[in-house]
Amino acid sequence: MPETLPYIKPKQHHNYVAFFLTLSCNLRCPYCINLHNGGPGYKRTGRKHMEVDEWIKAANRLVLRDDLPLSLQGGEATLYSGFYRFVNEVREDIKMDLLTNMMFDVDEFIKKVPPWRFTREAPYAAIRVSYHPGQNNIEELMSKAFKLRDAGFRVGIYGIEHPSIRDHILQTKERCTKLGIDFRTKEFLGEWEGRLYGTFRYEGSVCGDMMRHCECRTTEIIVDPAGFVYKCHADLYRGRNPFAHILDDDFNEDMIEEFRPCDFYGDCNPCDVKVKTNRFQVFGHTSVEIRNIGSPVKNNNLNVAGQAGNIFMPLQGKEDKRKEDTVKEWGTT
Ligand code: SF4
Ligand code: SF4
Repeated sequence: MPETLPYIKPKQHHNYVAFFLTLSCNLRCPYCINLHNGGPGYKRTGRKHMEVDEWIKAANRLVLRDDLPLSLQGGEATLYSGFYRFVNEVREDIKMDLLTNMMFDVDEFIKKVPPWRFTREAPYAAIRVSYHPGQNNIEELMSKAFKLRDAGFRVGIYGIEHPSIRDHILQTKERCTKLGIDFRTKEFLGEWEGRLYGTFRYEGSVCGDMMRHCECRTTEIIVDPAGFVYKCHADLYRGRNPFAHILDDDFNEDMIEEFRPCDFYGDCNPCDVKVKTNRFQVFGHTSVEIRNIGSPVKNNNLNVAGQAGNIFMPLQGKEDKRKEDTVKEWGTT
């Protein structure tokens, strides 16, 4: 590997750059779609963690616009052993966002992380905390949010409006808002009690009854713990078909624009295909573009892909293996 690598300069329409430093997590949300470190699914992927020096080298390749931070997520990104070195040693002009469950030691975080790293002009907080009722405690989250705010960080707490806990989430939002905490809710995407929530651009792409051939391309750079780059979150979580490595000498922003074949249309992650408003306030944007959706793929189920068929665990005792919880927002950090 050469000492210095060519720059990667995301284009105007490239919307997200994320390093999944680790998929390990210190919570066990029953609906989580991640392959936790040590679990059978995770082991099957054979994924390793990149060394922190390699992550630093990877981040230093990026030339990011002011409105495009490097997002750190997982799993729980702060569990990555090189987390503190990483946030301190990457080039200073690279601003970062952190998606976290905030189970970390907040005093250590304040001591070791310079606030400027997570400071930029944006309509939302750079440190975005997911509240998972029954897993992390809202009182603790609130007190940590206050501490971080007093230390100069901007923190927001997010709750998913899942139908089973919607009232609780809305009450929590009201309570936090009164206390001056930025608490936002996210739409639930996925299927629950026979109803599909969310607006998806491609029919049958989420919770589809069968897998189909298609061609797909993305607008994002998403990198797994081993440094592999994927065309969507469904692929990343399952460790299937990476198309590059972040340290490849010839990896550049043009490569993410290519349409690539996929045999898993029907297993798309909602966050990749949901219709949303982009940063120019134009409605109708999706993270991926899919074309040439064709015939069903014979014998193509999640296990055939060589990955965990059981990562979509039943929610609240429901028997349906997969259809209720196929949601990134609901199912990850
Ligand atoms: S079609 Fe769906 S599963 Fe296939 S690459 Fe695109 S988003 Fe991913
Ligand atoms: S949903 Fe997030 S916090 Fe919960 S177990 Fe999964 S990665 Fe951890």
